[in-house]
Amino acid sequence: MTSPTHSAAPCAIPGTPLADASAGIDACVHCGFCLQACPTYLALEDENDSPRGRIVLMHALVEGTLGVEDPDVRTHIDRCLGCRACETACPSGVPYGRLLEATRATLTAKQPNAPIARAILFTFAHPALLSLALFGGRIVRALRLSSLLARLPGRLGFAMSMLEATRGPVERAAYRPDGDGSRGSVSLLTGCVMEGLFTETNRATERTLAANDYALVQTSGQRCCGALHAHAGDADTARELARHNIAAFEASGADYIVVNAAGCGAMMKEYEHLLASDVQWRHRAAAMSAKVRDVSELLADAGPRPGGPLALTVTYDAPCHLLHAQRVATPPLRVLGAVPGLTLVPLEGSEHCCGSAGIYNLVEPDVSDTVLAPKLARIADTRAALVATGNPGCLMQIGAGLHQAGSHVRVVHPVDLLDASYAADPARRAPAPGASRQT
Ligand code: SF4
Ligand code: SF4
Repeated sequence: MTSPTHSAAPCAIPGTPLADASAGIDACVHCGFCLQACPTYLALEDENDSPRGRIVLMHALVEGTLGVEDPDVRTHIDRCLGCRACETACPSGVPYGRLLEATRATLTAKQPNAPIARAILFTFAHPALLSLALFGGRIVRALRLSSLLARLPGRLGFAMSMLEATRGPVERAAYRPDGDGSRGSVSLLTGCVMEGLFTETNRATERTLAANDYALVQTSGQRCCGALHAHAGDADTARELARHNIAAFEASGADYIVVNAAGCGAMMKEYEHLLASDVQWRHRAAAMSAKVRDVSELLADAGPRPGGPLALTVTYDAPCHLLHAQRVATPPLRVLGAVPGLTLVPLEGSEHCCGSAGIYNLVEPDVSDTVLAPKLARIADTRAALVATGNPGCLMQIGAGLHQAGSHVRVVHPVDLLDASYAADPARRAPAPGASRQT
């Protein structure tokens, strides 16, 4: 580990994203407060896999004491989950997430990502290919092949367990939302995995918002938010997707853009930063980012209205990109608190990453498993029947881990529980388009 220095040496990588972001490196005072918040440092016990260590590596790249093609640098940067727990812990306001994205963009310009990562990113950037992949996933799930194949060892078995985890555990009857739209208009980022594999959660999001007096507006032509690409160093594709979504949501004219996937919401709130150097788009990006809300924020602002009773014991796991990136902590708890009869039990280490981190669990499986293990043990300690969490990656990662461990605990999005509560309210029951469990 090199010792920290802040010399005025000339930049060795001028014109790169990391060079442009290097003021953030200088904000680090190397106090180490972030170390115990970092899942990869706790799992691997290597300072180079800590936030402070990675910032030293970034500084060495800028100074030229380490090269951008150094394989060890790449390894330690690749192992970062991008969970941003270090930002929450940092007293100096180091913008670690932005530094990480800038570093990855700088490194991938010299050394491309692994083939599996490139294949996934390519798929998410091409709607027809993505639709085909998600359709295939739904077929495998409907035929229960995922349940069978989940017994295979290795990543294929884990990927099939992830698919199994998208089978919604909450059944509910149709109900009348009965809202009056007086809180303003909202348009949902339907999302890639959310609409493809958590379709019923998207409908639950729309119903619960309508029940809390938001008027729904559809946005056609929306695409992937670009989060996977930005986190993997493909900033150009992320910007292209961002411009597309800005134009699409502008056309909707909605007061709020609502997101029920924490990773996507964090990305869209950062479109302003992503397009900061694009004079044609930066003001439009800022206007859009200002409208983005996690669904729990809008529901909490509205109360939310209580529903009918559900006798369930639930624990809550905070998605990193909701808690650390968006700093949204209590609204999901208020959503769960609106369900009469629901017993919410605390989860120790709820603020720690589950190891999902976009495509991290597929490209860094060993570290991901090591990070997930304590989460599963702590969930078992709660004796809850359900884990609530508001991000598809976390739903699938924790759900897969529980499935592989033979646990009967299931994972659910908080809005699905509020929706089920409304469905259980006799005053709302009505002959309306039905809602059912995903198959
Ligand atoms: S807490 Fe912040 S200032 Fe301290 S070492 Fe970590 S990143 Fe640097
Ligand atoms: S983003 Fe998460 S994994 Fe990466 S350095 Fe920060 S705390 Fe550690």
